[in-house]
Amino acid sequence: MKLYSLLKLAGGNRIPPGMKIFGLAVMYGLGWRVVGVFLDPVLNCNLRCQMCYFSDPAKRAEMHGIITPERVKAIAESVFPRALKLQIGCAAEPTIWGQDKLAELILLAGSYGVPYVSLTSNGQLLATSRVSLRALVVAGLDELTLSMHGSTPEIYEELMPGAKFENLEGLLKIVRAVKDEFPDFKLRINFTVNSLNVADLAEDRIDALFDRTVWPDIMQIRPVQKLGESRWSDFSHDAIKSRYDETIGRLTERLKSRGATAIVPSLAELDEVATDQSGASAVIEEFTYCYASPDSCYKPDFDPAKESISRYLRRKKSFRTLVKAAFSSNRRARKSNTTKKLNYHVK
Ligand code: SF4
Repeated sequence: MKLYSLLKLAGGNRIPPGMKIFGLAVMYGLGWRVVGVFLDPVLNCNLRCQMCYFSDPAKRAEMHGIITPERVKAIAESVFPRALKLQIGCAAEPTIWGQDKLAELILLAGSYGVPYVSLTSNGQLLATSRVSLRALVVAGLDELTLSMHGSTPEIYEELMPGAKFENLEGLLKIVRAVKDEFPDFKLRINFTVNSLNVADLAEDRIDALFDRTVWPDIMQIRPVQKLGESRWSDFSHDAIKSRYDETIGRLTERLKSRGATAIVPSLAELDEVATDQSGASAVIEEFTYCYASPDSCYKPDFDPAKESISRYLRRKKSFRTLVKAAFSSNRRARKSNTTKKLNYHVK
C-alpha cells in the first residue's frame, strides 16, 4: 500500500504538476506497480437505487454481460503484475457473480502479489448465506467498500429499492465479527447525500447505527450530482448546505475523533463538486486507471489476451510520453479525456 499512497500523493496540491508526472514516470520506469485495476465481473445489479443509472430502464437494458473465466485469466496474467490495487466492483454489483468466483479472483490477485484488494458492494448479498464476507477475507480481501444511502429503514429502502435495512444492519454486525478476527480488514462507506437523506447523517441516526454495529475506518460523503439519467431529480445542494454543520461537519469530527478517515466536501466546496479534471491529474489518471469488464480493458487498442500491459505501455512509448508531459509547460488540455471528479477534503 505504500506505493499506492505515493500515487495518491501525486494527486495532492502541494507538489508541482510536472513533478507528479515525473514521479509516476520514475515509478513506471523502475518497473513498479503503477496501475489501479477497477474490475466489473458482472454488468448488472440487484438494486435500483434512485440516484443510480440502474434506476433508468434504458441504461439498465444497455448494461449486461458476465466476464468469462478465460478473460479473468488473461487480465490477471497481463495486468496484475503491474497492479497496485484491485477494486472489484466499480459501476455494477460484483456479489451477484457469486462467492466462489469472487474468492478465486481474490486468490488470483494474491498469487500475482497485488498489494491491496477491495470489494465495492451494496452489501445485500453479503448479509445472506449466499456470499460470505469472512470467506472473501480469508481469501485475501483487504477492504469492503459499502455503498449505503441512508441510515434509517425508511430512507435507506426508499433510496435503494430492492434493499432491506435489516440486511444492512446484519452485514455491519458481520463486519464487526470479521474485524474482531482480522483486525487489519477495513470497512469503507460511500454515502451519496441528497436533500432526503441528509437528515440520516445526524447524530441520532448515523451514530446510532454505527454504535450498535460497527464504525467505518473510512467514510466518503459525496453530494448528489447528475451524472446521467436516473429516477432522482433533485440535484440542488441547498438542503445539504442548510444542515451541513449538524450532519457532515459534525460527523467528520466524530470520525476524526475515532481515528477514522473522513473524505468529505467542505461547505464551500458543495457547489463546486463537479469539476473537469485536467493537467497533471488527467495525465496520471489516464495512465494509472485501468477499468476492466466483460468487454473492455484499459484502452480500446489493448487486448489482455494478446499482450501484457507492460508490453503495451512500451509499445505506446509511455515512459517518453510521461517524461515529455512532465517537462511540458504547455500541458495538453486533454478535453477529450476529462472526467467528472469531486473535490474533497481528507480529514
Ligand atoms: S447498488 Fe450501486 S450499482 Fe446498484 S443500483 Fe445502487 S448505486 Fe447502482
